[in-house]
Amino acid sequence: MNLLTDTPIPEESREIKARARAFADERIRPEAMAHDATGEFPIEILRAAQEAGLAGRYFPEAYGGSGWTLADRLAVIEEWFRADGGIGLALQLADFGAKVVAMHGSDEQRSAWLPPVAEGNRITGLAATEPRGGSDLAGMGTTARREGDEYVLDGEKYWTSNGVVADWIVVYARTDEAGGHDAYSLFIVPTDSPGYEAETIDDKMGLRASQQARVELDGVRVPASNVLGEPNRGFYQIAEFFNYGRIVVAGHGIGLAAAAIEEAWDYVHERELYDEVVADKQTVRHELVDMRERFEAARALTWSGIDRRRRRGAPRGRGAPGGKPDQQDPPRQRVPGRVRGGQRRPARHRLRALVRGELKPPWRAALGPEHDRRPPRHDQAPFRVRLAHLASHEW
Ligand SMILES: Cc1cc2nc3c(=O)[nH]c(=O)nc-3n(C[C@H](O)[C@H](O)[C@H](O)COP(=O)(O)OP(=O)(O)OC[C@H]3O[C@@H](n4cnc5c(N)ncnc54)[C@H](O)[C@@H]3O)c2cc1C
Repeated sequence: MNLLTDTPIPEESREIKARARAFADERIRPEAMAHDATGEFPIEILRAAQEAGLAGRYFPEAYGGSGWTLADRLAVIEEWFRADGGIGLALQLADFGAKVVAMHGSDEQRSAWLPPVAEGNRITGLAATEPRGGSDLAGMGTTARREGDEYVLDGEKYWTSNGVVADWIVVYARTDEAGGHDAYSLFIVPTDSPGYEAETIDDKMGLRASQQARVELDGVRVPASNVLGEPNRGFYQIAEFFNYGRIVVAGHGIGLAAAAIEEAWDYVHERELYDEVVADKQTVRHELVDMRERFEAARALTWSGIDRRRRRGAPRGRGAPGGKPDQQDPPRQRVPGRVRGGQRRPARHRLRALVRGELKPPWRAALGPEHDRRPPRHDQAPFRVRLAHLASHEW
């Protein structure tokens, strides 16, 4: 069974999708469970993906990038997340900061910072979220104060993907004491700057191969030329950036759901009870049809976001999230588990990793070890409202 068909994908993105599928089958899937167990960052797989031209340079060809369209990107992300969410996210975010520079940097900044990333020599990140929350971007506490030709950054960031392994990250910080939407700027910050400290957040429940960090900025100095675009435009810059990311994030749920449904489908067609395969039970057939229909609807909605983008330009409003709300629909996530009966429970079964990864992907996936023992089935609401903070091991 192959749920990630070519059907909704534009003709010109199908070749890259096929390459991503081959790479995922060969390099990601065989190593997925080992990385899920240890939470180790998949540096070897990332290097291989970079060499294959599949990761780490989603920006214009003029700066050494892949020149991919958003459709190319989504087609690849679906395939990676079908193979494994944690490794998929690690590959996806290797150029996280570089993409922000590509979108909002000057030509000079792009020429200086992007080519080394394209050559596979640099890992980047983006630090917006802080310990007290990630949604309220006009309320972040990290400050950047101008001193001569430099800015001095102070504060704490949380959930910074690649915060420990990156060579440089883009930091979102307040540059105007008045606060509000016009008070933030984006800075390129090398991670070897004095005053930059990062520690890995351990024990995530899902997406374990991707690495997030708590980052402390204690008097970190960067030249004023490291500000992206105009000062105090950071809120709008990041909002525009996330409009693209949302469509791709929908691909996380699509890929994970495809894998979970395919696993469950195979299982009920092999498992025999009362002298027939479980798939022949009428109620099970209803479940199978229901989950496939929901999957197809979510995928169609997601790709319609790409189509709107192609026809109308920048993704905005309805075109931005695409299928994100629908692909996160909890019942669809639960069904593949239910049809497996007790077989979904064993700690190292792939379906468990998939379900943990799909819990409100991607940020909502990071629940603590407590919940690893209690897979969500009846009640998703507490997970939804706590978001990433559930991942803290103190919870
Ligand atoms: C695996 C992973 C990787 C991540 N990578 C990065 C990264 O690289 N860089 C980075 O900066 N961040 C990163 N994040 C953080 C992520 O962006 C945040 O989790 C997200 O922004 C939400 O913030 P929060 O978890 O603090 O939730 P909060 O902002 O505390 O929100 C709590 C709850 O309030 C709800 N809520 C918020 N605003 C409203 C509103 N206006 N109306 C109604 N309800 C509302 C939310 O939906 C949620 O249910 C990552 C998180 C994870 C788990």
